[in-house]
Order: sequence, then structure tokens, then C-alpha cells
Amino acid sequence: MLLEVEGLKTYFYTSKGIVKAVDNVGFKLNKGEVLGVAGESGCGKSTLAYSIIRLVPPPGRIVGGRISFMGSDILKMPEEEFRVKVRWKGISMIFQGAMNALNPVYTVGDQIAEVLMLHRSLTKREALQEAAELLKMVGLDPRRVRSYPHELSGGMKQRVVIAMALALRPPLVIADEPTTALDVVVQAQIMNLLKRLQRELKMSIILITHDMSLIAEIADKVAIMYAGKIVEIGSSDRVFNNPLHPYTRALINSIPSLRKELKKLEFIPGVPPDLIQPPPGCRFHPRCKYVFEPCSKEEPPMVEVEPGHYVACWLYAKR
Ligand code: SF4
Ligand code: MG
Repeated sequence: MLLEVEGLKTYFYTSKGIVKAVDNVGFKLNKGEVLGVAGESGCGKSTLAYSIIRLVPPPGRIVGGRISFMGSDILKMPEEEFRVKVRWKGISMIFQGAMNALNPVYTVGDQIAEVLMLHRSLTKREALQEAAELLKMVGLDPRRVRSYPHELSGGMKQRVVIAMALALRPPLVIADEPTTALDVVVQAQIMNLLKRLQRELKMSIILITHDMSLIAEIADKVAIMYAGKIVEIGSSDRVFNNPLHPYTRALINSIPSLRKELKKLEFIPGVPPDLIQPPPGCRFHPRCKYVFEPCSKEEPPMVEVEPGHYVACWLYAKR
């Protein structure tokens, strides 16, 4: 087991109240596996990612649970040890919008080299050489080490960001909406790049996205998040072919495809709930067309409906 998250709770202590952005989340990830985490914006996906690399911004705090990475309890590790041993080297992250946060006054080679020099005792010259290799690995001309971010297209900048995330060959990369700002053609190229690198480097990826079609393309496993909780998790094959949770079904039906263009796209009425005072019982109940008597009273338990395929919905639970 590469990563095991159990009962994770990450709350934000705001002046308006406690935002339970991640509220009792758990899952397991094997070495080399790709997990897609899907859900609407504000469901806690990014907070989950920030929790795993321990960069939850204030006023957020991890208040409960356990994260075990390669056998170590990383929430118990002193920050210094985590920074040296785990962050970037063990778990790296492609932050949402990172391609627009590259430093405009340094060449991309310098920026990649900096990561390498910080974590490995390389000379500047060696680090730049390695940066060129990394650029080649992500499909860029190695001479681009001398380019400045403004000289690159969006897709090229995203390749640079990916090169930085892979610089130390971490076994786990978390990619938060890695293609969101890009046009469709470039999106596909970046997804193909991630797929190729995942296979070549045998790394695990946690892909965070609101776009179910990206998950269908690359993920072995899928977790569906709603209002701070995982409501369904299972292999991609099972979740896409046998979606159980009404919310998962709506998300899958919202994927535009040739077949469905004839059909009306399913629309999920309502908005994601306020995470300061989430609805009681099943948090999806105000928007669910199957809502029935227990849903607004008691939280549905997570049940295994078929091997390895779990759902938290009263339609599948015994009461
Ligand atoms: Fe809908 Fe009830 Fe299932 Fe929630 S528990 S998704 S409200 S049927
Ligand atoms: Mg996000």
C-alpha cells in the first residue's frame, strides 16, 4: 500500500464558523495506481490534496485522521522531516494554476534546477543538465531551459510544471485540475503526457478534477466527493459502468458525448451546500430526486455493494 488515508478531517476556522471542507475521508492507493477524485468545485477535493502534502493554508487545519505514506504516519512527522523526506521527493503536487505562477524573471531551466539543487546536492551545472533531460521527458525541446515563461504557450508551461513535479521522481504525484485553463486540444496532449509518464515511471497519480471524462481516460479508481465527503469509491470500470450514488449518476450523465448529445444532458438542480452548516443526514438530500424518509435524518453508512465498490446512500443500506 502506497497511501492510506483514514478518517481525515480538515476544517477551516473562519469568522463565520467552521468550514468542514474534508470531513471523515478515507481511501487507499496502491503503488502505480491512478485515483481520480471528482466533484463540483467547493466539495473539498483541493483541500484533500493540500492535506496530503501538508500545505493546508490557514485558517485551515487537519483536525483528525491518519495518513500513512509508504508505511509512515506522515501527519505525526515533524515538519522538517516531512519537508526533507516526503514533500516533492515522495509526494509532489501539480497545483491548480501553477503554470501561471511560474516566476517571470527566471528561465524555466533555473526554476527546475532550483528544485533539484534544494533537494539533491547537485551543482548548478548538473542541475541545469538534469532540467534539460526533464524537459525532454515532458516532450519539450531541452534547449527550452533558457526560455522565460512568457516565451512559452500555456501547454508548454504546463509541461514545465509537470517536469518540476517529477524532478525528484516521486512515487506519488497529485495533479489538481491540471488541464483546466487549457484548450481542448492541449488538454488532450497534457492528459496523454501524464498517461505516458505514469506508465514509464510507474508512479501513482491522484487526479483531482471536476471533469469526469478526464477521469475515465486515466484513472484505475474513482472517488466521488460531495460536500466534504467521499460518497462513492471503486474501480473506474465499476463506477462508470455501474454508478450507484445518485450524484455520481448525474456527474456521469453530464459528460457530453456523441451518444448523449441526442439526449438532454442531466442537470443537477440546486447548488453544493454550505459546509459550515451542511444539510443533516445525507448532504445531497436537498438535491436528490430519490430522497426518501431516512435521508434527511441520518447519515448513510458506506456500504460495499460489489467487491471494492463502496457507496454512502440509503438506497443501498440496510436500516
Ligand atoms: Fe439520495 Fe437519500 Fe441516497 Fe442521499 S441517501 S443520495 S438523499 S437516496
Ligand atoms: Mg479546487
